[in-house]
Amino acid sequence: MTKLATRDQKIIWHPFTQEKTADEVLAIKNGCGSYVYDEDNNAYLDLISSWWVNIHGHSHREIAKSIYEQALKLEHVIFAGCTHAPAIELCEELAGVLPYPLIHFFFSDNGSTAVEIALKMAYQYWCNKGLKKELFLSFEGGYHGDTFGAMSVGYKSGFHNAFADLLFKVLSIPYPATWDEDDGIELKESYALDVLDNYLVEYGDRIAALIVEPLIQGASGMRACRSEFIRAVVEKVRKFDILVIFDEVMTGFGRTGSYFATSQLKITPDFICLSKGITGGFLPLALTVTTNTVYDAFLHDEWSYAFAHGHSYTGNPLACAAALTSLKLLKQEDTQNAIKAINRAHDQGLLFLKDKCSNVERTRICGTISAFDVRNSSHLNLKSKFLEKGLLLRPLGDTIYLLPPYSTTKDDLESAYQKIASIL
Ligand SMILES: *Cc1c(COP(=O)(O)O)cnc(C)c1O
Repeated sequence: MTKLATRDQKIIWHPFTQEKTADEVLAIKNGCGSYVYDEDNNAYLDLISSWWVNIHGHSHREIAKSIYEQALKLEHVIFAGCTHAPAIELCEELAGVLPYPLIHFFFSDNGSTAVEIALKMAYQYWCNKGLKKELFLSFEGGYHGDTFGAMSVGYKSGFHNAFADLLFKVLSIPYPATWDEDDGIELKESYALDVLDNYLVEYGDRIAALIVEPLIQGASGMRACRSEFIRAVVEKVRKFDILVIFDEVMTGFGRTGSYFATSQLKITPDFICLSKGITGGFLPLALTVTTNTVYDAFLHDEWSYAFAHGHSYTGNPLACAAALTSLKLLKQEDTQNAIKAINRAHDQGLLFLKDKCSNVERTRICGTISAFDVRNSSHLNLKSKFLEKGLLLRPLGDTIYLLPPYSTTKDDLESAYQKIASIL
């Protein structure tokens, strides 16, 4: 039998990959807890939660079982005109942990569509009220997915340059990224707020919505900002009747230490986008959640006021069943304690790295996420060196980040930080 990697190379085109120069892919045979295993049974600690989706560990039996049991009852049914218990129960449970009045739930399948839906709803909300607002506000470095709307608001993440001509117009606010012992933060924030003020004066009544990854930008390098800053931004835009979209696709489900970043920020946005961790990493699912005010603007005797959007797999019962079990696990005291323990282990780990490695800088922690920059990392070939030591990591430019499943122990992390230090 030919190696999986060889067969793969002949037939599969991978995401975000320059196929010409990419390293050989790692074929994974199975996963258990925080580890995945290759064909030769080598173990890798999954420190990136498999693109930030896995929260309770791989092949978690309880989630697997709930999917199996649901599949024997009902695998899927059209969600226009039909409904089912797993979808309703999931939304009822989520309404209990999201801030009020985020009580209207629209399903889709991934983070990009969750964002696309929020953008379209925000735009149509104003149309339904007889107003035309064609502009959006977003942040430099913000990443919101790879569909056209999501690319437009995430253009300044640098991932979508090839499509520049096809994107709609977005006003981009500088992002005051910060880190431990950053003494320039006040200046960066006041500059960003000045730019925002100017946009608001010039375009305020033409802006439909602001979209932001609250507390920390993911894809552009785990760039944290201060809560005060987000609060100041939201306060300013709301004076201009601009809707607020929190893209919590990455930050949701415990990632930043609380269930959602919005709970820590004590801001209730007009939309929240959820995906990634929602099913514990088992099945694709997403939700765009909004308020009464938004929902009510779509109620009308004329069909044209309705939100004409939907996907074939909308509200898939298997994914909803997985999400319900994942949420139940997330609420357990053991999981909440594990989240706190990961945060403390990061604290210790980063102190250790700063002590041992002179090329480590800009350390930052946000809940269960730690990140740091490595000076001149490009020639170090870090990703494959990490793999050789049994660590599944995916550096973003000069940034190394650890975003482990909550099944990851203090010992796992301590040993990971030691290995990272030895490589650096
Ligand atoms: C990953 C991500 C998305 C896109 O989600 P997909 O499921 O990959 O389409 C959107 N927003 C944020 C903040 C993300 O991290």
